[in-house]
Amino acid sequence: MNQLIGSSGHRAIRPELVGDALAQPDPWGFDETPVETWAEILAPQYLDLALLVAFFTLAMISFRRKSVALKFVTFSAAIGYMGFAKSYLISITNIFSVLDWNWPVFKYSLAWYLFFAVTVVSTILWGRLYCGRICAYGALTQTLDAILPAKWRVEVPRPVEKRAAWIKFGVLGGVIAYYLVTHNLLIYQFTEPFWMFGLFGTPAMWTALAVLLIATLFVRNLYCRFLCPVGATLGLMSYLAVFRIKRWSECSTCRICQKACQWGAIEGPKILMTECVRCDDCERLYADTTVCPHWRIIEYNDRKMRILPLQPVQ
Ligand code: SF4
Ligand code: SF4
Repeated sequence: MNQLIGSSGHRAIRPELVGDALAQPDPWGFDETPVETWAEILAPQYLDLALLVAFFTLAMISFRRKSVALKFVTFSAAIGYMGFAKSYLISITNIFSVLDWNWPVFKYSLAWYLFFAVTVVSTILWGRLYCGRICAYGALTQTLDAILPAKWRVEVPRPVEKRAAWIKFGVLGGVIAYYLVTHNLLIYQFTEPFWMFGLFGTPAMWTALAVLLIATLFVRNLYCRFLCPVGATLGLMSYLAVFRIKRWSECSTCRICQKACQWGAIEGPKILMTECVRCDDCERLYADTTVCPHWRIIEYNDRKMRILPLQPVQ
């Protein structure tokens, strides 16, 4: 570079040296890889992001409107698009990544971050909404439950159901401990069936899945209620839920919704946050003035007030 100091310096520029320098591949040492623009980064991700936003919008509309028809439309999209087309599911491997603080590169994984953020934020706001609307496997078993004849169902006795619900927390603790000791990611295939949406798996994995699905035909949402470590994680996070389901004072004696809840998430006046997936079944019952005794009591009190003359204040 000394040869290139200007005439005010000690040496003159020798044009033949400038020519030599320019002939080098990177004469000034500025050979940097071209910087990608956001337009270039976003171009391959637009469609994914748009479809994901459309899916979340549908899921939220169905949730806010408590519409059964829209819920099943959401389930179809969850199974078809989120499951078989994209295999977007929260998996125990994502929990391992969080434990290792190993995150995908943000700018190339925007759909993944959006998906992750919606799952975390919706859980903190409403509880296990992910399980009730977004998870492709949960959508599949809830759809099966809706189309199979009710007489096939085996109702798990309440004391057994309560104890079995703890198994998923045991699975979660066991699988995390195993991963922390071995760092073997492949443990996921023994604890969750989500690989089925990618249509891969060994004959042993497919056999185990077939057994699980056959059992699910008789015991509603078997895997989600009793075995899923992701459901257990979201259930624990649901203790933070801001917007919870309202309960009336009459709920402690009435029990209509407790019987209707297919997730075993209602116990008298209490909603068990670890089990509730915000399926809306009980909320639709609360809103039904012909079914929920709360409204009948209000109506009765109203009538009484109309019949009894108002007493003058002494
Ligand atoms: S419990 Fe597991 S499988 Fe079931 S809906 Fe939730 S995350 Fe999906
Ligand atoms: S019926 Fe109610 S308590 Fe039970 S899972 Fe659905 S929303 Fe939760």
